[in-house]
Amino acid sequence: MHRLAELDLAYHWHPFTQMRDWLEREPIVIASGRGAVLRDIYGRQYLDANSSIWTNLHGHNHPGLNRALQSQLRKVAHVSALGFANPPAARLAARLIELAHSSGEPALKKVFFSDNGSTAMEVALKLAYEFTRRSGRTAKPRFLSLAGAYHGDTVGAVSLGHIDLFHRAYGGLLFKSDQVMAPYCYRCRFNRARPERADAREYRHCQWQCVDQVEARFARATRQQRPYSAFVFEPRIQGAAGMIPQPDGWLQRVAKIARAHRALLIADEVLTAFGRAGSSENPKSGMPLLAAHTEGVQPDFVALAKGLTGGYLPMAATLTTPAVFEAFLGDYAEFKTFFHGHSYTANPLAAATALANLHLLDSRASIHARHRLHTALRHELASLWALPGVGDVRQVGLIAGVELVRNWRTREPFDLRDQAGIRVCEAMARRGVLTRPIGNVVVIVPPYCASPVQVHRMVRALRLSVAEVLGTG
Ligand SMILES: *Cc1c(COP(=O)(O)O)cnc(C)c1O
Repeated sequence: MHRLAELDLAYHWHPFTQMRDWLEREPIVIASGRGAVLRDIYGRQYLDANSSIWTNLHGHNHPGLNRALQSQLRKVAHVSALGFANPPAARLAARLIELAHSSGEPALKKVFFSDNGSTAMEVALKLAYEFTRRSGRTAKPRFLSLAGAYHGDTVGAVSLGHIDLFHRAYGGLLFKSDQVMAPYCYRCRFNRARPERADAREYRHCQWQCVDQVEARFARATRQQRPYSAFVFEPRIQGAAGMIPQPDGWLQRVAKIARAHRALLIADEVLTAFGRAGSSENPKSGMPLLAAHTEGVQPDFVALAKGLTGGYLPMAATLTTPAVFEAFLGDYAEFKTFFHGHSYTANPLAAATALANLHLLDSRASIHARHRLHTALRHELASLWALPGVGDVRQVGLIAGVELVRNWRTREPFDLRDQAGIRVCEAMARRGVLTRPIGNVVVIVPPYCASPVQVHRMVRALRLSVAEVLGTG
């Protein structure tokens, strides 16, 4: 075993990982990367079909991002945002507000920086909590979010989420938030359609009962005079919940209901922003920063993280409105200050890289690349329907989830203990393609620079691996 792999096994405790399994084999130690390709310490090459957990946008070792980072590095690596401003963070805040502009109300005008998706959500949560209390609406704000949601792993963010596995462990630490049915057409109890070899959203047979459920939830809370302060959602697709896409029009409908009940809208765009879930069908449409805008929804809070620095550095941002901002203004002695922040908040290296990332995203070349990737992905994914072990293939923008099943005719799922997703991803790694499953869903989230040939190789590895692990008949 390589000495570096030994060091890792001896000392490094990995996130969300059963370390007993981890310790059983030599890990892939990635030493370098370029574009969509990663290279391990033995020089073996892999395609990054998961964009390094959905962070990377333009590829690894990108000359433009490297330049921006190096140029800032020659000036200063870090200064504190407590008491000081810095040039890249000031510019980045302005640019994010410019890109988040929409004709919808309310306007997003302020940016609070932090370091990752969980903290961006934690900030939105605290701000919404305190804003609701200060506006005199309720002394005990309540939050409604979607079943299966993942909004991060800090205590507040976990409380907003509904993944039983995590809740069981930390129940005693969490506050209670309510959940409402998410649209999961493939496994929806209201969908009366028999399984077809197509994305379940296309052939579903229902009367939007999932929207009625949201309506009923809000109506009950209002009736009981315990209204929800905020509705928390991922626009267009729930990522860590299992790549669960929303049918067109769902978000617009539920956002309208939430608004009618005077709830704030908190959009978790940690995965979906920066064109990841935005429609790139029309190459002329430029960059939709926010996926919520593609449904005509204007949130009060937006959490950005993963793609913000193009996959280079940990940085996050929470965008919000003047109304929220003003609720924290007052005489010093009133102590209305937002008491929250981190040592590395508004880090200049990350901000400079994020600015270069946004510049690239807006370029003709990137818009063209995203369009090409969208088409290539759709084309390649269609080949998976030939496999009986594949129950649903769903694509939203440049995100794809492939749900593995025991029997596609009945949608019978695998027991998680069978580790179908894990075994398929291990077989893909042996074929030189890296990704991670979410339970029984294999994820393909390529960097925007992935060529049609590389996308072909990613999906081919998935197809061969499913056939190898689950059989073909
Ligand atoms: C990844 C993710 C988070 C958490 O972000 P971290 O940077 O891992 O803390 C929150 N929400 C969504 C939608 C995510 O995909």
